[in-house]
Amino acid sequence: MEDETPSLECWFLTGSQSLYGDETLRQVETQSREIVAMLNAAEAIGVDVVWTPVLTTSDAIRRVCLEASASDRCIGVIAWMHTFSPAKAWIGGLEVLQKPLLHFHTQVNRALPWAEIDMDFMNLNQAAHGDREFGYLETRMGLKRKTVVGHGTDPAVGARIGAWARAATGLHISRRMRLARFGDNMRDVAVTEGDKVEAQIKLGASVNAYGVNDLVAAVDAVPEPEVDALVEEYAQRYDVAAELAAGGARHASLRDAARIEAGLRSFLDRGGFTAFTTNFEDLGGLRQLPGIAVQRLMADGYGFGAEGDWKTAVLLRMLKVMGSGLAGGTSFMEDYTYHLGPGDPKILGAHMLEVCPTIAAATPTCEVHPLAIGGREDPVRLVFDAAPGPGFVVGLLDLGERMRLVANDIEVVPPDEPLVRLPVARAVWKPTPSLATAAECWLAAGGPHHTVLSTAVSVEALEDLSVMTGIELVRIDAQTAPATFGRELRWNQAYYRMAQGVSW
Ligand code: MN
Repeated sequence: MEDETPSLECWFLTGSQSLYGDETLRQVETQSREIVAMLNAAEAIGVDVVWTPVLTTSDAIRRVCLEASASDRCIGVIAWMHTFSPAKAWIGGLEVLQKPLLHFHTQVNRALPWAEIDMDFMNLNQAAHGDREFGYLETRMGLKRKTVVGHGTDPAVGARIGAWARAATGLHISRRMRLARFGDNMRDVAVTEGDKVEAQIKLGASVNAYGVNDLVAAVDAVPEPEVDALVEEYAQRYDVAAELAAGGARHASLRDAARIEAGLRSFLDRGGFTAFTTNFEDLGGLRQLPGIAVQRLMADGYGFGAEGDWKTAVLLRMLKVMGSGLAGGTSFMEDYTYHLGPGDPKILGAHMLEVCPTIAAATPTCEVHPLAIGGREDPVRLVFDAAPGPGFVVGLLDLGERMRLVANDIEVVPPDEPLVRLPVARAVWKPTPSLATAAECWLAAGGPHHTVLSTAVSVEALEDLSVMTGIELVRIDAQTAPATFGRELRWNQAYYRMAQGVSW
């Protein structure tokens, strides 16, 4: 797949004014370059922070906001008011800014020079009130933004800006995302339905269906040497069951699975698709339900949703990009069955086949087993347990009038006992604050059974994405109690209805 994230950048805008003279403006420039250097040195910020010339006039501000909005590389802008920058000059620019905004409230010096401080220092270093003037205007204009306070060398500041940059990058790529659905949704299912036009307005993702036999044609066209190469790669990367390995009784099944992977990949890449859905009710001439193919495509960053679930596929693709390069993994997931005791209650999550090996604790095994669903030959799949660690599950649902994200902080844990007879990849986790509260709140919010599980992306990045897109996020965490959560849902209902306004 074409890498969409290299050389992405966010622009650093510095506000000042000419009142203090050229010498002061030169110092402003020096200091703002220093702050940009601090941000570029912050490990958590995964995009280049690009310095732009100090802004003192409304024309220059409007120009840079237009250019940032038009740039295919710019994922967002960071604004800092160095000296006292009268905010009226920003109205015209902020009005046309179409990229996510972060207000960085900082100053170049960490410590006050108590013994040396004089009035020149005071006049130069007055972001403490310059940024308040800017914050007033942002609020007056009703601008969505993130405000981060602190010194540029503080790792906590870097982490907060880094989370925002990841959310902005996720939104940036989704603006041009193309998703291919093979067939429609699983029949009669409610939660996987949704308004594709609304999704494109809010997230940019273009969701279109293709006949599954278009995919079959791509699979049939795969040259044998490509199948050979994939089979070889499977043998090197996974513990392939003896019956599937070369010379094994069911080796033909492995070759069929590899052919499906190569065909699916070529179909997606030719069409510029970075996400897709399948539906076991509509497999056309495919010999197996795609298992290992879907698993490996997810591992390469493609979004996926089973049973035609395009909403989860869009969300997974965005979270794959947001988590790029981070430790941990991100996968399509489904709440499957519970352990209600003894010991801590837990959720066993899995799917028929399609769990991403980026969350695997160890080398997956490659196996073939019957699948009662789908009515095709036994599908080949990767089997593994998920690596323990903190993370979250998040689902995207359509409420009819708008969309909602529901997230739950979780701790992925080892299974209480080895799952020796379970022939699919799985994750076992403890929901926060408890299974009972988490599930009660999840159901109250209408959260779906299909989710994205991530141990890579931070919840803060998810919250930033919610602000940027205007899509509600309700989070079930250590502080959540059903009564207050229920009130939050009711208050949010009123807020989001009002925030939609009325159309003219
Ligand atoms: Mn499912």
